[in-house]
Amino acid sequence: MSSAEELLRSRGLRVTRPRLAVLDVLAAGGHLEVEEITRQVRERLDSVSTQAVYDVLGALSRAGLSRRIEPAGSPARYEARVGDNHHHVVCRGCGMIADVDCAVGEAPCLEPHSAHGFEVDEAEVTFWGLCPSCQARRTADD
Ligand SMILES: [Zn+2]
Ligand SMILES: [Zn+2]
Ligand SMILES: [Zn+2]
Repeated sequence: MSSAEELLRSRGLRVTRPRLAVLDVLAAGGHLEVEEITRQVRERLDSVSTQAVYDVLGALSRAGLSRRIEPAGSPARYEARVGDNHHHVVCRGCGMIADVDCAVGEAPCLEPHSAHGFEVDEAEVTFWGLCPSCQARRTADD
């Protein structure tokens, strides 16, 4: 049994070929759009609809096996790095996303002065800036 199968079973999810294929795609790392995930899943399985991929990603996210992030102005992206409360740095120039380890480590890493009675379990921190290649392009354009 593969570790992906064990992962699905450990979360009470049925093992299906589309779920295994999506986990396999996400395991390579990065923050992928649904379109890209679907393209790569189709290299592994004959026919999978985009809706089926959305359904799989929904099930994996609810089970805590994938994480969905959606920086402002960008389509939703999915990653397999879960459970470590890491954050993201997003390039304003090209949209590139990289992981940033949380300085605190546990969620929520920021405590609001007042949470209006909410029990806060997450602080979504996104750093924005220019990636190295966009910085180089900016310098070259000057
Ligand atoms: Zn960039
Ligand atoms: Zn990430
Ligand atoms: Zn943090």
